Amino acid sequence: MKYAILNRGDELSLELTERFHYLAAEQQLIHHDESPDIVVSIGGDGTMLQAFHRYIDQLNSTAFVGIHTGHLGFYADWKADEIELLVQLMGNHNQAETLQPRIVKYPLIDLIVTTHHQETTRYTALNEFTLKGIDGTLVAQIDINDQLFEMFRGDGICVSTPSGSTAYNKSLGGAMVHPSIASIQLAEIASINNRVFRTLGSSLVLPKHHHFDIFSRKEQRLLLTIDHLNSTVDNLSSIRCQVSDQTVTFVRYRPFPFWNRVREAFLGYE
Ligand code: NAP
Ligand code: MN
Repeated sequence: MKYAILNRGDELSLELTERFHYLAAEQQLIHHDESPDIVVSIGGDGTMLQAFHRYIDQLNSTAFVGIHTGHLGFYADWKADEIELLVQLMGNHNQAETLQPRIVKYPLIDLIVTTHHQETTRYTALNEFTLKGIDGTLVAQIDINDQLFEMFRGDGICVSTPSGSTAYNKSLGGAMVHPSIASIQLAEIASINNRVFRTLGSSLVLPKHHHFDIFSRKEQRLLLTIDHLNSTVDNLSSIRCQVSDQTVTFVRYRPFPFWNRVREAFLGYE
């Protein structure tokens, strides 16, 4: 079995990376950065986002596992002192097809950005994307399934996956969504409500096979952030988003239910 490692670059993560390579060699695991079966992220959830985007073109053939070197992560759920156990489990899996680990597949967001020149670019997000005004408030029209839904004015819009619902979306008062529910959630970032601009105020969860469009409704410079990646868009016409046909695969060498992770991360007890 081939593996690759991405780490946060701090001292502990670098040390663990060395240790991982050493232990992996003993288990006949092959270090292969170009086309790994398993990508190991060592750091935090942010490191997993980087790993995901590094291997975004290989989602069908690659699975991810995360070791956290800080606080408990949502994507990084193995502790630093469990590295021996993890490598051993990966080694078992390498040696016997019957010891295949459980895998879980999480939904992703598919977004298509169209500019005024009709150029379209497709992106995939693991946590969320946000759209914000750079020089002032964002002015946008939101359609759901090709029907006008609302006129938005405010700081911005956040569209998250279920596994991203515990990240930025949570700070916006959005709901925590179990990753077995293929859906996307639209949350408002400080909407302004008056007679002209009226938004729902609650966040919305859309199922698979629904889509919505965000139409830019003034000349505006916008900041489009996809997970940890920022870009400026000067001439946005619209963004179409829906649940992606692709999923991301995580290897689960042991169960760690989503609600347990929510409890441990936010309520602080195990
Ligand atoms: P960061 O500033 O380190 O991330 C902010 C926090 O979000 C970190 O504590 C990060 O954990 C955590 N996080 C990331 N994904 C998560 C998830 N799925 N569930 C729960 N917590 C999660 O920047 P970053 O590490 O590059 O991460 C980018 C993410 O930050 C974005 O995707 C967005 O969700 C989040 N963010 C949140 C806010 C906000 O809440 N106001 C604002 C901007 C961005 P680690 O420390 O383990 O990396
Ligand atoms: Mn981070």
